[in-house]
Amino acid sequence: MNCLECDAQVAIPSDAIQGEIISCKECGTSFELVKVQSGALFSLRPAELEEEDWGE
Ligand SMILES: [Zn+2]
Repeated sequence: MNCLECDAQVAIPSDAIQGEIISCKECGTSFELVKVQSGALFSLRPAELEEEDWGE
């Protein structure tokens, strides 16, 4: 699997789960693992790290 930003290889743990956040070690971008419907593979989507914006 490759980083969406810099195309570096991103290792997906064999026990990775849906919604797990992984980071590219080249550019530091965080991605969320999204399970692909058509199999046991994951795709990456940019993680929205705004979890601290609770009180609105
Ligand atoms: Zn990257």
